[in-house]
Amino acid sequence: MGRWIASCLIITGGAMPARGGDGPERPKLVVGIVVDQMRWDYLYRFQDRYTETGFKRLLREGFSCENTMVNYIPTYTAIGHATIYTGSVPSIHGIAGNDFIVQATGQSLYCTRDETARSVGTPGGDVAAGKMSPRNLKATTITDELKLATNFRARVIGVALKDRGSILPAGHAADAAYWFDGESGNWITSSWYREELPGWLEAYNRTRPAEKYLAQEWNTLYPIETYLQSTPDDNPYEEPFEGETPPRFPIKTAELAKKQGAGLVRATPYGTTMTLDVARLAIEHERLGEDGITDFLAVSLSSPDYIGHQFGPNSIKTEDAYLRLDKELGDFLSFLDERVGRGNYLLFLTADHAGAHNGQFLLDHDIPAGNWKEGEIRAALNEHLRTLFGKEKLVLSLSNYQVSFNYKQIDGSIDREALRAATIAYLRQVKGVNHVVAMSQATTAPIPALLRERIVNGYHPALSGEIQVILEPAWYSDRDLEGATHGTWNPYDSHIPLLWMGWQVPRGRSNEEVYMTDIAPTVAALLRVQMPNGCIGKPIIDLLKGEEREREK
Ligand SMILES: [Zn+2]
Repeated sequence: MGRWIASCLIITGGAMPARGGDGPERPKLVVGIVVDQMRWDYLYRFQDRYTETGFKRLLREGFSCENTMVNYIPTYTAIGHATIYTGSVPSIHGIAGNDFIVQATGQSLYCTRDETARSVGTPGGDVAAGKMSPRNLKATTITDELKLATNFRARVIGVALKDRGSILPAGHAADAAYWFDGESGNWITSSWYREELPGWLEAYNRTRPAEKYLAQEWNTLYPIETYLQSTPDDNPYEEPFEGETPPRFPIKTAELAKKQGAGLVRATPYGTTMTLDVARLAIEHERLGEDGITDFLAVSLSSPDYIGHQFGPNSIKTEDAYLRLDKELGDFLSFLDERVGRGNYLLFLTADHAGAHNGQFLLDHDIPAGNWKEGEIRAALNEHLRTLFGKEKLVLSLSNYQVSFNYKQIDGSIDREALRAATIAYLRQVKGVNHVVAMSQATTAPIPALLRERIVNGYHPALSGEIQVILEPAWYSDRDLEGATHGTWNPYDSHIPLLWMGWQVPRGRSNEEVYMTDIAPTVAALLRVQMPNGCIGKPIIDLLKGEEREREK
């Protein structure tokens, strides 16, 4: 009888008061923080000037998985966010790139594009920035599973400048995901979640936050000559802001914003400030972590990625951005302590991928590197294939380091096997290419097992190209002299931080190799909810030992 009443209470849903006493112990709130493009070594590279309240607090009070690797290629933002939250890989969750090619049609698809969704909060009406949803994500997220486990009573909210950084973590069943529209300077959402913005977010938008922050300019936090971990500001490796040559401190963001608009805020540390503003407002106004049901706030900090791309890891801009991020993180943790209570929230901080050094910077220090000129190589490859097969443009794309063929051009007259073999033979002799592997032969290719596994994990037959290109270390696609990027298997792109703190998390660190796919099942184990439905990862046992120790007390 008691059980019957209990299940009725569950079915009636959110209107009933939270039950207490005999349910599983759970934290009041889970906070997931993804720092877009954060390399693991940034925890130590800039540590001498980190505060005691930010990264150092996480290292001191929490648990650090020092060898956390991204276990698929390509290492891009959308895949990283999808993988962290699903514990799955592109082969299963279907987010095969930021953009990927639907092989059957040859159409390029943006990871969160949804033509059936309408934008909400954009003054210009239904614009592309808001036509987004998690529809293309084929697996559940840990946030979805928390919703399912609580009969949708848990509240789940995603916040990031990038739509994909907000939507993919928040999952399908989220209460909301919010992201930033550079065009209008507003934080927005889509009709997938809600028909209008909540009042608190409208009020925040009315303060014109991006413009307000950009009016402050961007100067270094400390005297510029003390940035000893970075190349002096006067260097040839950085990409200028529009209309500014070269990019030097102090950066006149107010003036630049007149030309570039509010979207400029993305490539400054103020993008992080604004994102954490919205995170705090969401916790306060949506009352996250207040009742007996665990809530989930998924935050992604996108600005470090924009800054990394534009200036590279060895720039004063990146060093300064991390020193500022560390302070802001400290303030955010203090806010969580005050609002939700120390020990009442479970927090993890990780990255969607890491990032490479600027190639020219490496060459100038006698370290091999190079630039894979995707467009030029594709044109030359197509010309070569035309001479062999008599058809133009047989290769549609080399994006994501994969060859997508142009199936519209390939009729019965072309031997598919011969086309594949000719393509592989051609690409193998291109400078900077290490290996070229047909996806169908990836498991037996004579390459290190680690590469085979990452190729297979990253390959979705309907959404990935048929051939994988692996470049030599420090080679990457389409960046000339300026800035840097990511996307490859190499440690600089695939070694990410993974820090845990708060509810039932022991102090410590481990150098055991774990994977990005282990994050979601570890959260699931801590929360005692089912792991996501495409999950291939495993709970991180070293971390869960803390729970046993708690119980033994
Ligand atoms: Zn990026």
